[in-house]
Amino acid sequence: MRATAIVLARVEDQKFHKAVEGIRNGAYQMTITRRTKEEVRGFVKKDDGKEYGCAITEAGAWCSCPDALYRGGICKHAVALALDVIRTPTRSEQSKMSSSSSVEDHQQLIDLYCQ
Ligand SMILES: [Zn+2]
Repeated sequence: MRATAIVLARVEDQKFHKAVEGIRNGAYQMTITRRTKEEVRGFVKKDDGKEYGCAITEAGAWCSCPDALYRGGICKHAVALALDVIRTPTRSEQSKMSSSSSVEDHQQLIDLYCQ
C-alpha cells in the first residue's frame, strides 16, 4: 500500500475535510520535495504565510505543525500533501489549475483507496 493511501485511510474525517477545503479555496500551497513510492516529503504553506514541513511514510505521517507535534496523529497538512501527490500522478508538470473538479476527483480516489 502506498504511504499516501495509508495516511488518507487513517486520518480523522474532520481533518480530511479541512485539508480538502484548504486546497479547494486555495489556502494551502504544496511543494513536494521528495517523492518515492514509500515516502513523500514536502512543504505545506498556508495563506497566512506559515509553512510546515511534512513527511509521509508507510509508518505514518510527520509534520512540524503544533497539531502534529502536540497531539500526534495525522494532521491536515499531511493530508493536503498526500492529496497533492494523488492529484499530480506523474512528474511531468501538468496544469494544476483544474481545481474546480479536483475535489470530486480526490473523493473518488479516497473511496477507491479506503475500500
Ligand atoms: Zn501539520
